[in-house]
Amino acid sequence: HAAPGQPTGGKQGLSGVTHIIAVASGKGGVGKSTTAANLALAMSALGHKVGLLDADIYGPSQPRLMGISGKPQSPDGKRLNPMENHGIKVMSIGFMVAEDTPMIWRGPMVMGALTQLLRDVNWAPLDVLVCDLPPGTGDAQLTMAQNVPLSGAVIVSTPQDIALIDAKKGLNMFRKVDVPVLGIIENMSYFCCPNCGHRSEIFAHGGAQREAERGGVDFLGEIPLDIAIRETSDGGRPIVVSDPQSPHAAAYRDMAQRI
Ligand code: ADP
Repeated sequence: HAAPGQPTGGKQGLSGVTHIIAVASGKGGVGKSTTAANLALAMSALGHKVGLLDADIYGPSQPRLMGISGKPQSPDGKRLNPMENHGIKVMSIGFMVAEDTPMIWRGPMVMGALTQLLRDVNWAPLDVLVCDLPPGTGDAQLTMAQNVPLSGAVIVSTPQDIALIDAKKGLNMFRKVDVPVLGIIENMSYFCCPNCGHRSEIFAHGGAQREAERGGVDFLGEIPLDIAIRETSDGGRPIVVSDPQSPHAAAYRDMAQRI
């Protein structure tokens, strides 16, 4: 439902890419990358042509999540072909360096790399490019928000107060730079014991919905803490593709439909 990003001001569009959507979080470890991968796969399952850009230069996790290894090829020596798995195109700085090599880069290098991953990659044709942003409100987020015509941003948070405070900062950042916030997702919303079915609200519950209402943005839904989500992601086949019949996969498809 997002309006196509318009190449206005200093924002140059990506030709052949209709929508660019950022998945953001205020804090690390709330499940933003897991959510971005599953949302991208859910959009693909709904019939869209989807790309996934791992904009987390310091902590790229999409190669592992999407089960992709190897190096992208550049047939003309100028532009890279994205890697591909589970029917979607993926690009990450993680394809260029070994998994245990740190990117010891200052802001301008990060912004340069991000611009290249976005503009010097053969993404087209795509209906949606999902961008997994690093946590917080730093250089990478500003580069994306100011130089790229984002159709909108989705914010992922756990229900914990400390995560919600930072999620609100993210929301305010996107508002400041006129990027529409498409909604908030509550991840790790609750836990159901697989043995007895008892439900525990480990990080509390419902805070993201309250924050969405307070901030006047959509609440897109909640995803519980579940070992299957962690295991399938670690195995390179996120739950939307490894278990499309599961309620979690249905929840991701439902959110993808509402974005
Ligand atoms: P972030 O991108 O916010 O740093 P990740 O997506 O890397 O977070 O998730 C952090 C860890 O939590 C990963 O090990 C991931 O597999 C796990 N995780 C994320 N969401 C869930 C969930 N709903 N249930 C179980 N584990 C999850």
